[in-house]
Amino acid sequence: MHELSLVVNLLELCEAEASRGGFDRIDRIVLEVGELSGVSLPALRFSFDVAGRGSVIESAVLEIRETPGTGWCLKCEETVRIREPLRECPVCGSLGLLPTGGTEFRLCELVVRDRRTLEKSRKGVG
Ligand SMILES: [Zn+2]
Repeated sequence: MHELSLVVNLLELCEAEASRGGFDRIDRIVLEVGELSGVSLPALRFSFDVAGRGSVIESAVLEIRETPGTGWCLKCEETVRIREPLRECPVCGSLGLLPTGGTEFRLCELVVRDRRTLEKSRKGVG
């Protein structure tokens, strides 16, 4: 499953951040997922719950921000809204569309549960 490998990568990133920052829990994770990224949000949430068990993200709230799909139509010479990849331009029907937005899968924000824990461990390091 595609979504599971995305979550595994995300989890690795979070654990690296956690060990660098000296915290063991993440409160909230904000992801930006493009409408044209091919990511299934229910599958993503399911994978997040399963793969996250017993890890730093176990109790984290997953917030997903969907970004709209857009493409540049070579014929209309303007940006058009598209809801599925590799589709024709909704205005002129041309297939000459270059995707310009909505293909991203990005980690935007990590919110850490306990700031004091973070500061404490930083002091400990210094
Ligand atoms: Zn067009």
